[in-house]
Amino acid sequence: MQSNIRKWIKKTKKSPVKYFYPTAILKFAKISKDQLVQELKELETVGIIKIFYEGRCPDCFRELKTLSEFPDKNITVECVCGEIELTPDNFFTKCQLIK
Ligand SMILES: [Zn+2]
Repeated sequence: MQSNIRKWIKKTKKSPVKYFYPTAILKFAKISKDQLVQELKELETVGIIKIFYEGRCPDCFRELKTLSEFPDKNITVECVCGEIELTPDNFFTKCQLIK
């Protein structure tokens, strides 16, 4: 049986949307965050999506760094605010839809 997430992705693939944030799915899929993470990892394994981790400035929320692996340490980057030390908490999961 297809999950709500797979249905949503199938529908979204027909739109110009190329990236989405998992929080967009949590709003309608009646599942826990852990279930969502698990399902997204499975979708990545079968090549439907690619998961990225986007580091945002804690002060101005600009996107400063995108990683393919969740960071295990702090990363220093330049922002318009000045030099920022991004902690793992400043990284948000972002998914790319792959055709
Ligand atoms: Zn900033």
